[in-house]
Amino acid sequence: MPNYILLLGGPGAGKGTQAQHLCARFGLPQIASGDLFRDNLKRETELGKLAKTYMDQGALVPDDVTIRMIRERLQKDDARAGALLDGFPRTVPQAEALDALLAEFGGKVNAVLYIKVRDSALLERLGGRWTCKGPQQHTYHLLFNPPQVAGKCDVDGADLYQRADDTPEAQANRIKVFFAQTAPLIDFYSGRRQLVEINGEKPIAEVTAALLAAAATALA
Ligand code: ADP
Ligand code: ADP
Repeated sequence: MPNYILLLGGPGAGKGTQAQHLCARFGLPQIASGDLFRDNLKRETELGKLAKTYMDQGALVPDDVTIRMIRERLQKDDARAGALLDGFPRTVPQAEALDALLAEFGGKVNAVLYIKVRDSALLERLGGRWTCKGPQQHTYHLLFNPPQVAGKCDVDGADLYQRADDTPEAQANRIKVFFAQTAPLIDFYSGRRQLVEINGEKPIAEVTAALLAAAATALA
């Protein structure tokens, strides 16, 4: 049976930072809805053009479009054994659509890891975030996780940039949207006894260790 792990958390909680460690440990591909949208934006596809208007404001892209994009990605060969979903679902309708989709693949959600970070800390993290232009979109932080060489990714040497939606206005709106539209998923999954809450306000390595332990227990 395939394994599907979900990473929940506000914008800047550390989902992307932690996803790479979980993927390496459990041999799963990382499927990050934000990365997929940004890839479409770069290639100037119709989907990218549509998504841009929402992303620039820090609003969510409509559910139907987002669900279709994830469905296509989950159907790819590398996701046969499952996937780590980073940033999807972000609304209750997306979570319901995901259940139906995974059932088609003979799977289900196996673990939901919620990286909890207060909104004041989220803003601090987004404010200093630099993102790698390479395909994996690694992230760094000016103070909390600086790259070894200024402006370059440690992993693939690509240039780092500040995302267009990492403006103060869009950041504040993303945090608002998270508490209004995504936080209901915390009740949705804890009602099913699937949610594991991890304190995200610890150094990166400590959060990684807690997530790896929680995922190992959930998948056992
Ligand atoms: P962050 O790293 O700040 O949490 P993401 O890279 O995950 O942001 O997402 C960037 C933007 O892409 C979001 O603000 C939203 O516009 C869009 N997006 C990403 N995932 C989803 C989703 N599951 N549903 C709707 N929109 C999404
Ligand atoms: P998300 O994918 O949830 O939006 P990121 O992984 O992009 O979040 O992390 C947001 C910013 O916070 C990045 O600049 C990253 O380097 C930094 N960061 C991630 N985890 C931590 C942590 N535990 N402590 C301090 N900074 C962190």
